[in-house]
Amino acid sequence: IQASAPSTHSAPIALSYELFPPRNESASASLWDTIRELECTNPDYVSVTYGANGSNRDTAVELLNRLLTETSLRPLAHLTCVGNTADELAEIISELLDHGVRGILALRGDLPQDAPSQPRAGSLSYAQDLIELIRRVEQRRSALLCAGKVAIGVAAYPAQHPESPSIEHDVEVLLAKQRSGADFAITQVFFHADQYKDLVSRARRAGVSIPIIPGVMPLTSLRRVQRLGDLTGVAPSTKLLDALGRADDAAESRRIGVGATVDLARAALDAGAPGIHLYTFNEHAAALEVLDKLQLLRPARPQPGLRGASSTIGTTAR
Ligand code: FAD
Repeated sequence: IQASAPSTHSAPIALSYELFPPRNESASASLWDTIRELECTNPDYVSVTYGANGSNRDTAVELLNRLLTETSLRPLAHLTCVGNTADELAEIISELLDHGVRGILALRGDLPQDAPSQPRAGSLSYAQDLIELIRRVEQRRSALLCAGKVAIGVAAYPAQHPESPSIEHDVEVLLAKQRSGADFAITQVFFHADQYKDLVSRARRAGVSIPIIPGVMPLTSLRRVQRLGDLTGVAPSTKLLDALGRADDAAESRRIGVGATVDLARAALDAGAPGIHLYTFNEHAAALEVLDKLQLLRPARPQPGLRGASSTIGTTAR
């Protein structure tokens, strides 16, 4: 990793972005402008979200394929298991690996609002089941192909998963995911740096040794912060809500939001975070402004040899 990290950090900082598959052609054109801007910063990887139950499977696979064939970027494919059987998931895992994907973020996915009380017969229940399935598929294929190891990421929760009985249970789940073969974790959004620090220290005490990368999102509008709170079940900081609510216009809102995101990310880095994962919302300007203020912007470096090659996604982090 070539990072221009602040002087307080001795190890390079892993840098990654989250994108979601575009819903139409105009969204696709603007996403590709964003991808080109992000590519210039030479990130370690870009992650591509996946709808629960595979609702956007085709557009996700198409975006991953284009990233692999038309850019120097290394994609990390999100994959959710809720509502799908092991056979269905094995097929999509093989499809991703055939395309050259070498990093998968293994997730359960959110349960649909109208989920039946009895899950579909044979469907996987937890992210841990999906990790084990990915490792099995990988093992079967590696007998035939000389492909590099798949890097598996998982979700971690600084502010407790909404269905979890306790933060202790969250750490037990993270440890179980590590034991099943996870290589690194990316956190859900959080609004207080102490929540990230507490998660890392509780996880380390429990035996979790994989990198835990803070996920941060430029919090540039009151609407976005409120929507994020609703979607994730993570209560936004009242101080930030008040400040954004008092902003006179969009420019001031953005200045406040970028400042708050920089403070959050800096506190996580000062606490030893091995990298920063930026939830971009498919927009580059605010994400790059955050990185610029953190002095984490990197010069572009062409990486022609990386397409489809064995990846070090997540494992480059300390
Ligand atoms: P799990 O780790 O399986 O946990 C789900 C719940 O089950 C938790 O409450 C946990 O405590 C409990 N649990 C887990 N294992 C056990 C066990 N063995 N016994 C008892 N209880 C258990 N969603 C999408 O749909 N698409 C995406 O692309 C997407 N990307 C994400 C990226 C990141 C970085 C994060 C943090 C979240 C993302 N999500 C995405 C949201 C995620 O799918 C939800 O948060 C989901 O509710 C939980 O997923 P998980 O992988 O953490 O599940």
